[in-house]
This record gives sequence, structure tokens and C-alpha cells, in this order.
Amino acid sequence: MTMKYKTTIGMEVHVELGTNSKMFCACPTSFGAEPNSNVCPVCLGLPGSLPVINRQALIRTVKTGLALGSEIAEFSKFDRKNYYYPDLPKAYQISQYDLPLCGGGFLMIELEKGEKRIGITRVHLEEDTGKTLHESKSGRIEDAAFSLVDYNRSGTPLMEIVSEPDMESSAEAAAYLTTLRCLLRYLEVSDCNMEEGSMRCEANISVRPAGSDELGVKVEIKNMNSIRNLQQAMEYEAARQVKAIESGEKVVQETRHWQENKEVTIPMRSKETAPDYRYFPEPDLPPVVFPQELVRQLESELPELPPAKKTRFVEELGLSAYDAGVLVADKQLAGYFEECLREFPHAKTVSNWLTSELIGRLNKLGQHIGESKVSASHLVGLLKMVEAGKLSSKQAKEVLDEMVASGKEPSQVAADKELSQLSDSGELEKIVDAAIKANPDPVAEYKDGNEKALGFLMGQVMKLSRGQANPQEASRMLKDKLSG
Ligand SMILES: [Zn+2]
Repeated sequence: MTMKYKTTIGMEVHVELGTNSKMFCACPTSFGAEPNSNVCPVCLGLPGSLPVINRQALIRTVKTGLALGSEIAEFSKFDRKNYYYPDLPKAYQISQYDLPLCGGGFLMIELEKGEKRIGITRVHLEEDTGKTLHESKSGRIEDAAFSLVDYNRSGTPLMEIVSEPDMESSAEAAAYLTTLRCLLRYLEVSDCNMEEGSMRCEANISVRPAGSDELGVKVEIKNMNSIRNLQQAMEYEAARQVKAIESGEKVVQETRHWQENKEVTIPMRSKETAPDYRYFPEPDLPPVVFPQELVRQLESELPELPPAKKTRFVEELGLSAYDAGVLVADKQLAGYFEECLREFPHAKTVSNWLTSELIGRLNKLGQHIGESKVSASHLVGLLKMVEAGKLSSKQAKEVLDEMVASGKEPSQVAADKELSQLSDSGELEKIVDAAIKANPDPVAEYKDGNEKALGFLMGQVMKLSRGQANPQEASRMLKDKLSG
């Protein structure tokens, strides 16, 4: 994109809270159940049914607000957002309008040029809609002969996090979503699985000539179901708007749909504004009074969050900022690392073996650390064998290959492969003695001050031991004997 234009992006992220039951009824929220099996009169919107607020959903939303530095409202309420669509059986969605649970806050994102603060406008709670399945090969409504509605998702607790329009590029938008997802996973409020739709994002994007204070017309982009999609869509849309302005067309305020296969955005509908929804207070629910005591308790129970953990890994464990960043970016990976440290407190060694050796091997298999057959205690077992000189690091990598494939214990793998290093001084001494005896000339040269002769003798020791001598140990022993 040319430097003549500035891009402005704000994001709305919807997160399905991983509660056991739905927002206003006791139906389960499990993903992938038989269509229309997890339903009841409340989430089907049958007349006369009454909603009851899910306490766990309120708590998870407040936790999120606390982690984002939001103000937690002592008094908030639910409102009806009125619109008609087949996947919305009540013809209104229970949401929050003017008094959300959490207001304000920020999220720090890391960019190549340093950190940037992205403002949070609000975090509120609402219910999800059902799912409309368009029966066609493309799954798109325009190709479908008919559509089916599955109400299993109807009424699932949905938290909406609205950002300020503080992002200025597709890379910043991607960094924001990545950082937010990481935070929510630390808080254990959702699995944030974008493929299954438990985390969904919409972006408002506009462009304006550089130097102009007035924001351009904003366009809302939907249907970006991965961080890569978001980045591509933002790039495409910014370029499309610039092209429109430059050719004298008007950018229309509308909602556009990201079409992944064609890598374009297409118009969906003209953008609704708040009055279109005729918001009014939900008469079937009491206002939410969230005690400050409970807020303080939840605050004290927050886990160590990624920025604090990263700082600790750097300052207390001596890791590089890069390595600490890699470990902290994934809650399970950070947990695995810390589990290793409890038995083997050498942070740099563990970090190196974990991030380059183990993760490298898992990536090749398409496995996440959570699916790894190598437990933290087995990895530690391997590192202890290296530390004790029982395995060279080259041998240890060979052992790790097998551990990743079979999940076997390191000492078992080493025994099966007959991999070991000779550190036992009795046996090693015999070999060192033999090497000295068989090579009187190099021995004499070394004693005359030729350091290079030691290298030759070491080579002989390695050869006699068939590569199994522990080099440090053998070298120390050779020097001892030759100087004695
Ligand atoms: Zn229900």
C-alpha cells in the first residue's frame, strides 16, 4: 500500500465462552453434537420460556476485563437487539448495549518496531445465534437450493471484545488477534479455536490520505476464520479502498464478506446502525449487580499473564527475549517448560532442547506440544543423561527421534539402540592407556610441546572406543596421563 494513505482498523472479536451450559438455559454447549439435539424452549425462543443468567459466563467476562485493565461495572444490564434471521428464533438477540460489564482497557502488542498499546472500548456479554447451513458444494447461500438451521449453538455465551480503531496495518491487526487469543487461553475462558468458530473476528477498516485528520468511510469485513485470512483481507480491502478513492469512486459504508478461495471481499449488505436494532432493556432479566468483593477476589486469582511471564523468564531465568517470547506465546508450551524446570533447573538447556529440538520434530509431524508423546519427565530424563555424560548430544538427538515416535523412556531407547558414552573411568582408562601405548611418537611430540599431537591421540581414543568415549572425560584423562 502506498505511503500516501493511512489505514485505520478497529476489531470486534467474538469469543464463545467454554462454559458447560448455555447463556440463559441449562443446555450443553458441546461442539459437534447431532443437529438440534442441544436445545430447549429457552434457546429455541418458544413463547413463555424465561432466561436465567449463567454465572460462570459473567465471571469469565469479568476475568477477561480484569486482564485487559478494564473498569468492571458494578451495575450492568442486558438489552434486546432486534433483527430477524432464521438462525435467531426469538427475532432478537440478548446482548448488552449502553451498560456493558467491562469498559475501557488496553492490550499491548509486539511489533518489529517495538510495543504498541491498542485501546479496548468495551467487553460485553451476549448470546450466540444458531447456525445456518447452506446446502451446496460451496456452502454459500447463492449456490444453495435450500438451507438448514441447527440451533445447537443458539444461546451459547458469547463475549464480545471491541477495540479502539488503533491499528494501522494488517500486521498490527494480526498481532492484536494473536495476542488476544494467547491471553484468553491463559485465562482459560475459551479454547479460541477459530476453525470451529469459537473465536471469530470482524474488522472495521478505512483509509484516508496521509495528513488528513478526518477518518475515511469505514467498511466492516466479516468471515475471516483465521489470522492469515484476517491479514490477507485487511491488505486486500485497504488496497481496494485506495483504488476506489484514486479513481474518483466513493467508498460505501457497508458490510463485506471475505471470500477465502478468491481472496477478495464482496459486498454483503449496507451496514446497519444502532437505531436499526431498536435496542431496549431486556424485561425478562434483572440487572447484573457484580459485587466489588467478587471482582477483587477474581483479580487476586488471575494467573500469571503472558507479559509478566515473559519478563520473569528473561530477568530471572536468563533466557533471551526471543526464546522467552516463543515459550510464552503458547500456554501449554510454557507450562511444559516450567514442568521440566522443576526437575532440571537449567533454563537455557531446557529452552534450547524444547524450542529447537522437540518442537522442531513435533512441527514436522504436525503435532502440538499437547499431543507430544514425550512427557516433560522423559525430556528431563534425556537431558540428565547428557549432563551425566552418558550420552553425547548427538546421541541424545537420535534418542529423541525415537522418543517422539514411540513415547518410550530415554534410557530404554538408548539401551535398545546400544547408544551410550563411555564415561566409566575404569573402561575409559583402559582405552586411553592402549592409545598411549600404541602411539609413542605422538606422545613424545606432545611432551615436547606440540599441542596438535593431543588431537591425534584423541582421535585414536575415539576410534578404539568406536565413538563412544565421552570426549571431555577422555581428553582430561589423556592430559593427566601425559603430564604425569
Ligand atoms: Zn436451551
